[in-house]
Amino acid sequence: MENLLISACLLGVQCRYDGGSKPVMPTVALMEQYHLIPICPEQLGGLPTPREPSERRADTVVSRSGADVTAQFRRGAEQALHLARLYGCKAAVLKERSPSCGSGEVYDGTFSGRLTPGDGVTAALLKANGIAVYGESDLDALLAQPEPPVEEDAQRSLF
Ligand code: SF4
Repeated sequence: MENLLISACLLGVQCRYDGGSKPVMPTVALMEQYHLIPICPEQLGGLPTPREPSERRADTVVSRSGADVTAQFRRGAEQALHLARLYGCKAAVLKERSPSCGSGEVYDGTFSGRLTPGDGVTAALLKANGIAVYGESDLDALLAQPEPPVEEDAQRSLF
């Protein structure tokens, strides 16, 4: 059975910035197919819970009050990659639109609810290291395939 990295908030862990979670998963079906390795990159990076919401802004991550939290987000991404390598994960299921975990689109840094193309810091680093990243809306597709594909468009950069 493959190991699969997963955003802890999707499993009901109350690690989100507001102290809540987003348990939207067919968790049982996923656990029948994978060993789940829960991670919360923002906590792994040293941020408290609850915490201010943050958003990507160009090559940085800033909190709503303007604090630069890029270093914590990078540290969390590196810790997530460490766990992915340790457990031999070929894929991850990460919370969509998060500045850490989002893949394909994230909030645009204005704290206005607008989305922009891009990846969260952890999703970007995992992809750059050959780990396929899925969002929670991709789960049906993930469950339908026997083996997760290796990410082909690896970009060797954090951002
Ligand atoms: Fe969930 Fe990822 Fe945000 Fe942690 S960093 S609360 S796992 S979306």
